[in-house]
Amino acid sequence: MRFHIITIFPEMFDSYLRESILGRAIKDKKISIKFYNPMSFCKPKEHVDGRPYGGGPGMVLRPEFFLQAFSKIKTKDKRKTKIILFSPSGKKFDTAYAKNSAKKYTDIVMISGRYEGIDARVQKILKAEEISIGDYVLTGGELPAMVLIDCISRQIKGVLGKYESLEEERVSSSEVYTRPEVLKYKNKNYKVPKVLLSGNHKLIEEWKKAKK
Ligand code: SAH
Repeated sequence: MRFHIITIFPEMFDSYLRESILGRAIKDKKISIKFYNPMSFCKPKEHVDGRPYGGGPGMVLRPEFFLQAFSKIKTKDKRKTKIILFSPSGKKFDTAYAKNSAKKYTDIVMISGRYEGIDARVQKILKAEEISIGDYVLTGGELPAMVLIDCISRQIKGVLGKYESLEEERVSSSEVYTRPEVLKYKNKNYKVPKVLLSGNHKLIEEWKKAKK
């Protein structure tokens, strides 16, 4: 999967994408991530944002620079390319969306806004799908882009190692334990549930299902 991110803050992604499973997926070439910064298309004294027509607080990101950034993106196959623009009022992102995207596309373009958002003509011209990651308003679309990269990547074959297999394809539990068997904390003993030490796989699976 090739991710293409249009953002005025590409550095925000650095440490998250360098570490752990995603860092390994990039190294192993299971995924690639490229950044396109609309700011780099501003001439000296030009601003990437402007005052909103119709008034109101906050600044709006200007369309030309986002379209110029988009024009630099080279994808494998237009029919297998998805264009996403983040918006708190967009379609809600979920596991089914991630699964479907991992299967259907070779390239995913994500456009991250800031301030009051991006001039609406960008979405119209590119016919981008508006996607929200939840019912709250963030300061920008960079976290949403990282959420999608993370969630879609773990649906791609070979990204998760055998110790990190997909929750959706096994019995998993939100309540998990490791050593020590008995944890002492402020004069109290906290034990691991007996069933997990029993070696009885059937009982363990049943316990996990009940804990879901
Ligand atoms: N004024 C806008 C909100 C702008 S928030 C409105 O009322 O809709 C600034 C940017 O953050 C947005 O352009 C979007 O890219 C991103 N953003 C904020 N919350 C988000 C969410 N819940 N899901 C996806 N993107 C979000």
